[in-house]
Amino acid sequence: MTQHHTILMTPGDGIGPEVMEEVRKIIAHLNQKNATNIDLIDRPIGGAGIDRDGVPVTPETIEIGKKADCVLLGAVGGPKWADIDYALRPEAGLLKIRKDMELFANLRPAIVFDALIEASTIKPDVIRGLDILIVRELTGGVYFGEPRGITPLPNGERQGLNTQIYTTSEIVRVAKVAFELAQKRNKKLCSCEKANVMESGKLWREEVEKLGADYPDIALSHMYADNCAMQLLRNPRQFDVIVTDNLFGDILSDEAAMLTGSLGMLPSASLGARDAEGHQNALYEPVHGSAPDIAGTGKANPLAAILSFAMALRFSLDGPQLADALEEAVRQVLNQKIRTADIMDRECELVSTSQMGDAVIKELAKV
Ligand code: NAD
Repeated sequence: MTQHHTILMTPGDGIGPEVMEEVRKIIAHLNQKNATNIDLIDRPIGGAGIDRDGVPVTPETIEIGKKADCVLLGAVGGPKWADIDYALRPEAGLLKIRKDMELFANLRPAIVFDALIEASTIKPDVIRGLDILIVRELTGGVYFGEPRGITPLPNGERQGLNTQIYTTSEIVRVAKVAFELAQKRNKKLCSCEKANVMESGKLWREEVEKLGADYPDIALSHMYADNCAMQLLRNPRQFDVIVTDNLFGDILSDEAAMLTGSLGMLPSASLGARDAEGHQNALYEPVHGSAPDIAGTGKANPLAAILSFAMALRFSLDGPQLADALEEAVRQVLNQKIRTADIMDRECELVSTSQMGDAVIKELAKV
């Protein structure tokens, strides 16, 4: 019998519900074929949460997320909620669920599909066949470190302060995730920091190096983050898995993403630690935001959300083969020159959000 799984579905705002609708259709298709046995629990998040519950995410929703096999999230935010106090904005809901579920490892693949190679601003020869994975530490570092704030100084100036801070356990747990992912890929891990000028970077390098002894099958290298930014443009295929801290990961993962050319194609996963029973908190979401400029027009590309679900199948739902099949279905649809507006090219067929979802299901049904 197919194993039962529960997913918390939080579509969010703007195009979030539109792209998640296509994921829903794929899950219904897989359930109907008995390839999966997935129950969805729906809850609002972000602006939709504010409208319904007065807060962007409720403690009840977070508890459901912790018990579920994973969370699938659309996107949050929009002009309607732009004037609300910072701590109660839609984006605060996303930060809260990530923090409360202790999702410390953010996985951002950068994969170049042959059919979309022209969409990148980088020369095709540099990126053809690119398949790299950036693992970013997500709950520590300078975005969360204390002390922080803006304070007046006696001389009349103001001082802005943030603290870059990492403990050994924070470094080791995210590095472990990266080593284990590298084991399932091409067995290469590059760790990035600024050990030359930052103590937190020096500690990062020492701890990752020490942990490397437990993974003799992995070729571990270290790189300064600024050099990594250059190397990603010069020769990105030298990398397999990159692990780095919250701040550098934020920047390097956006840079790597843009090698592939299109925001509507980029999936992501955020993972927590695995407990003694083998349960791991996990949240999957497209990298893009709620795109208020195209919400409601049927123009949103659902492939980033669909590829995020493929990551969920691989990492949380015991379905690596289904994940491969779904990614292959996406590849075939692109090869057939079916495109939403954001990735439209010459001699291609322009389709809507829901037509793109249908095209993926049609390909998936062939497997
Ligand atoms: P955005 O990612 O929403 O949009 C940037 C541009 O890319 C827009 O022109 C948009 O139309 C286009 N785009 C994005 N996703 C697309 C898709 N799937 N298909 C086709 N085109 C797509 O970023 P933004 O405009 O800076 O932010 C809009 C709102 O989203 C803000 O409220 C912001 O805070 C929020 N946001 C949320 C997340 C998240 O939920 N994880 C991430 C980024 C931004």
